[in-house]
Amino acid sequence: MLVNQGIKKELTLYGKKIAEKGLVVAGGGNISAREGDIIYLSPSGFALDEINEDQWVKMELATGKVINSNKLKPTCEIKMHLMCYRVRGDIRAVIHTHPPYVIGVISTGTKIKPMFPDYVTCLGKEVPLLPYIIPSGEKLAEVVGKVISKYNVISLKNHGALTVGGNLKEAFYRSIVLEEAAKILFISKTVGTPAILTPYEVKEIDDLTAEAYRRRLLKDV
Ligand SMILES: [Zn+2]
Repeated sequence: MLVNQGIKKELTLYGKKIAEKGLVVAGGGNISAREGDIIYLSPSGFALDEINEDQWVKMELATGKVINSNKLKPTCEIKMHLMCYRVRGDIRAVIHTHPPYVIGVISTGTKIKPMFPDYVTCLGKEVPLLPYIIPSGEKLAEVVGKVISKYNVISLKNHGALTVGGNLKEAFYRSIVLEEAAKILFISKTVGTPAILTPYEVKEIDDLTAEAYRRRLLKDV
């Protein structure tokens, strides 16, 4: 199997999954994946579930130069994607979505806090909430770059979410678990008062996760 075709196939697959899960509608959101010194980005103006394998935009990470042969332009959020890869060498995938529950909850100024174990395992101890910043510009890329150095998941007020991962699957799981967390918080608020996990409970889960990860690593040796 050609490696390049593999990553483009995967991007096409996850573009469909992201749309199926309702994390974007119409031409909203954008995704990318890194392979060595090259990144592949969603083309501008396309719905994520309508991009075929030949339509991903190929770009040199170091220079930001488009080197694809399909003449398509990359997503307008290109600066934000490049920034993530440049800030952290371990990032292999970036997913930016417009999930309705996330946007609805965070735009009231409410942070999506940990209420269940998968939150901690998948998203970390907390998800930072950035103020509204106009999309596509230098400023958004700059602020995201600062925050992504310490987090894998960011919520963007009145805009959406950004997740990163060591591969597309990891970044995708983070995107769906964040939307799930927003839904759970919304349901909880309609029924009563949400019970947020305490810092001690969060740490306990985090320790368990770290322990399981270490064990898995040892097993792989
Ligand atoms: Zn957006």
